[in-house]
Amino acid sequence: MIFTLMQFDFLKRLFIKAPVKKTEVLRTVKREYTKAEYPAIPSSEKLLAEAKTLLIAQQADHLASVLKVRWNSRMRSTAGMAYWRQSLITLNPRLAEFGEEEIQRTLRHELAHLLAHDRAKGRRISPHGAEWKRACRDLGLKDEKRTHELPLPRRTVARKLFYRCPSCAVEIARVKPLSRGAACVRCCRKHNRGRYDACYRFEKVESKMLKAGV
Ligand SMILES: [Zn+2]
Ligand SMILES: [Zn+2]
Repeated sequence: MIFTLMQFDFLKRLFIKAPVKKTEVLRTVKREYTKAEYPAIPSSEKLLAEAKTLLIAQQADHLASVLKVRWNSRMRSTAGMAYWRQSLITLNPRLAEFGEEEIQRTLRHELAHLLAHDRAKGRRISPHGAEWKRACRDLGLKDEKRTHELPLPRRTVARKLFYRCPSCAVEIARVKPLSRGAACVRCCRKHNRGRYDACYRFEKVESKMLKAGV
């Protein structure tokens, strides 16, 4: 999504000043995850380095030198954004729930906006037009869809494993099985000073839809 001049100052205040802290990210992601279980979020430095390499391969050296990539935990269902005035890409930390592939896809989608804009040299181009599509292909994205939304419907299909804490009855949904003996962090904290206690091991429960927002 490319933003207009009017929105620029507002967005600058929103996105530029507060760096995304890791603790913040963990607090705002879906509640069924405990800190220990939340999927790893790649460092923005690593993503930035990858994006720079992609740009340099396209002879966009200047853009590569000014590019910025940030995680933004305030994003809700938007997967990523590109701000060409700031050469900035912001990504939703929830992307980590969908795996590395989805992070890479979104990074390239947004990078294609910046690359297309850079190549246009001030000429007006449509956000998801021919120039953007060409930039997508150049960055290794084939058949990219014009959406910035997180692939939420896939998540409900993908999560097939459900576990419950025998003590507090919290339920969690997982794509991959929990590691053997994984215990409820909340109960270990509350009843065992944060140390592991096998009493609070998650039990596998029948597949069912979890309540929205749990
Ligand atoms: Zn887009
Ligand atoms: Zn518990």
